[in-house]
Amino acid sequence: MKNVISLKDLERMVREGKSLTNLPEGAIMTPSARDYLNDLEMSGGARVLAAVPTAPSAPAAKPSPPSKPLDSKSSKAELEAFFDSPYAYNLKEQICEMGHRLWKRAYVDGNGGNMAIRVGEDIAICTPTLVSKGSLKPEDMCLVDFEGNQLCGMKKRTSEILMHLQMMKRQPKAIATCHCHPPYATAFAVAGIAPPTCMLPEYEVFCAVGVAPYRTPGSPEMGKLVADLTDQYNTILMSNHGVVTWSHNNIEEAYWRMEIIEAYCRTIVVAGQLGKPINTFTGPRMKELLNIKQSLGFVDPRFGMKECELCDSGEWRPGATCQVQGNSENAAGFDAEAEQAVQAITDQILRQMK
Ligand SMILES: [Zn+2]
Repeated sequence: MKNVISLKDLERMVREGKSLTNLPEGAIMTPSARDYLNDLEMSGGARVLAAVPTAPSAPAAKPSPPSKPLDSKSSKAELEAFFDSPYAYNLKEQICEMGHRLWKRAYVDGNGGNMAIRVGEDIAICTPTLVSKGSLKPEDMCLVDFEGNQLCGMKKRTSEILMHLQMMKRQPKAIATCHCHPPYATAFAVAGIAPPTCMLPEYEVFCAVGVAPYRTPGSPEMGKLVADLTDQYNTILMSNHGVVTWSHNNIEEAYWRMEIIEAYCRTIVVAGQLGKPINTFTGPRMKELLNIKQSLGFVDPRFGMKECELCDSGEWRPGATCQVQGNSENAAGFDAEAEQAVQAITDQILRQMK
């Protein structure tokens, strides 16, 4: 064996059924090899290191789900074994990865934000309370039943778990849920308005945005108000609070919705300051986007609507001519011009009357 050990070497050893517990002394690890070993150690160390070599044909990536589906009535031992399995570890890692991305993008603050992945008929893996998403680790995760009772995990589950679970109960397609407080989208939530539609294709395809009224975070009432919207919306603005998304595919897609709605809200706020009317899609173009959306299995309340009905949903249209409730500061630039125009017309009429 050579003195430098790479990730490829480790993967080959696993494929060949060799143990990773007695690597040659003094061998130098490449950074990715070191990460790989650290990850294995964090997942329960020796158990995984020892278990992997006995299954030489097991692919290094994507561990498979348990052969027997689990639920809240499964025995404590079965649930514990599942929770410690490579399959569950992989899901925990996915949640950590999304948590780190949320934190790096400043979509969470303090210990804010939480996520869950459905792993059985009425059980889910979720984030713990009081841990920054920037420092989330697989061993921080919790397993809960759909009533919010904790089944496994050292740390206490998030206090906002009920909302995630109510969404999953109400929307059987929801595999993963993600909640955080991205500033631009949360600004719309504070104003209590859904962003105007028909401006950017990605937003139209990936997000369908509804607004839920404010209730105390973590309360069953909050969860119900959000869950009631999941039939038609996959991205829900929680008034005076933040955003929650769900996906029928995976946690990364639920996370993507956060990036997409946040970028959209930011873009239209900036577009609204350019002093030019904002262009929107025509009905037929909008219809095409909704057809793509439907083919991807996403929800949207506008499926089946007539083309002419698709583009009138905005309560707030920055810089658009139908902006009637724009605040006076925002409208100041336009007012000066408008006043000049009114003055010119008035003068002209007065001249003609003389
Ligand atoms: Zn929150």
